[in-house]
Amino acid sequence: MKTFSDLELKPWIIRQLTGIGLKHPTPIQENCIPKIIEGRDCIGAAKTGSGKTLVFALPILHKLCEDPYGIYALVLTPTRELAFQIGDSFAVIGRAINLRQSIIVGGMDMVAQGAELAKKLNLTTGVIHGTETGSDHLESCNTFSLKQIKFLVLDEADRLLGGAFDGQIKTIFSALPQQKQTLMFSATITDTLEKVKQVAKNEVFMWEQKDD
Ligand code: ADP
Ligand code: MG
Repeated sequence: MKTFSDLELKPWIIRQLTGIGLKHPTPIQENCIPKIIEGRDCIGAAKTGSGKTLVFALPILHKLCEDPYGIYALVLTPTRELAFQIGDSFAVIGRAINLRQSIIVGGMDMVAQGAELAKKLNLTTGVIHGTETGSDHLESCNTFSLKQIKFLVLDEADRLLGGAFDGQIKTIFSALPQQKQTLMFSATITDTLEKVKQVAKNEVFMWEQKDD
């Protein structure tokens, strides 16, 4: 059975995980974390409760600690509850490096404005909700601080793409740098995610947990 140390995560991350009683990665963590550390884009699917949050939180923190300047990652989720849960996960591990993060709940205009206000942060967890798009606002406000992100995460990506949030997602994509790692997670690989994989510029590592 593999341990988190086998995934070549920084020692301080292993210590934080040990502190909260986590020693062995779940299958999606074991398979996806090394690829993300290598720099690959990733689409990961496994049912609820498989530990998908740490699949992105650990590699982001692993890399962020080497270069903690500006907003390093933007995590988008479809609900407030998820945003706060993800924020808690980042906080529990990230307290060892004094991670600064903000959780912005609102339309994309809020995400962009919040990011601007929060230039000193490492991480922004944004929630998109299904109200009218903030594209006009997004264009009118300064999105400079989002131009430097290294990671974009779409958690519950099946709910964010191809549905009510689609327009807002496209708007935020246009405000982000080309050069970044994109990580997407959902319970199952949907047609939309297959399509995303096909049109992606980078070669995407796709991993789906098969129930046996
Ligand atoms: P998902 O996003 O796949 O639904 P979460 O990331 O919310 O799953 O994690 C579900 C629960 O599993 C959380 O309570 C989390 O702390 C726990 N967990 C995550 N990784 C591990 C692990 N490697 N070993 C034991 N528990 C874990
Ligand atoms: Mg989840």
